[in-house]
Amino acid sequence: MPELPDVELYKRHLDTTCLGRTIRHVAVGDARILADVSAAELARRLEGARIIASRRHGKHLLVDLGPPGWLTLHFGMNGSLVHFTDGEDDPPYDRVRLDFAGGHHLAYVNPRLLGRVGLAPDADAFIAAEGLGLDALDPRFDLAAFERSLAGRKRDVKSLLMDQEVVAGIGNIYSDEILFQAGINPRTRCDRLDAGARQHLFERIKAVLETAITSGAGAERLVDRLPSSFLIPHREKGGRCPRCGGEIASAKFSGRTAYYCPRCQPEVA
Ligand SMILES: [Zn+2]
Repeated sequence: MPELPDVELYKRHLDTTCLGRTIRHVAVGDARILADVSAAELARRLEGARIIASRRHGKHLLVDLGPPGWLTLHFGMNGSLVHFTDGEDDPPYDRVRLDFAGGHHLAYVNPRLLGRVGLAPDADAFIAAEGLGLDALDPRFDLAAFERSLAGRKRDVKSLLMDQEVVAGIGNIYSDEILFQAGINPRTRCDRLDAGARQHLFERIKAVLETAITSGAGAERLVDRLPSSFLIPHREKGGRCPRCGGEIASAKFSGRTAYYCPRCQPEVA
């Protein structure tokens, strides 16, 4: 499922293929993906607008269209963005398609309809209304900010990392990777992490996300591009730890399955 590195790659895909282009036509393939806007209203607002800039915040991609405001994209479980030109096939599960001059098209693809496409007058107001914390790669999300979010919290560190109100962008897959690289068991209570563990964890948050972006890694789809020392390529039943060779274990955290190495990530007594 798309997390920060995936959405960052979608942003770069959009920027290189569609920035500066004017939307001629909007086709809504399935209006159930729309948040608080009808297909007709979306088309009316977007047609004639130009893609001025884009901005990613956590797992959201926000597209600046000037006077009509911002197009907001969330990718849910398996959404993506696909640019194509006349003569190429429209990708399957194309829920919203923007048609530009010169035969260019941008498809918002989402097989399971679990994402959202909407409009917002202002990006910062949208982020505030969604209750999102700082983006995990925002320089303002520094060690001090991270320490503040951990202080006195009895909840497990895995759930905290996935909490978009604490820090935006990390989901089930990358929280597993970050905890694996930090050698921290996902069940560890936040208030049991000592100063060294907190700093190490903070550094792995930034490093894992940056490495995933530079590897061009999109969650499970492009998993082979990640370094083999990462947990993610081995993150499955029967998988082997890339560090010690031991068997990877799994456990449920708020309905999501976490994977970890019981040897490299021992439980704290
Ligand atoms: Zn191990």
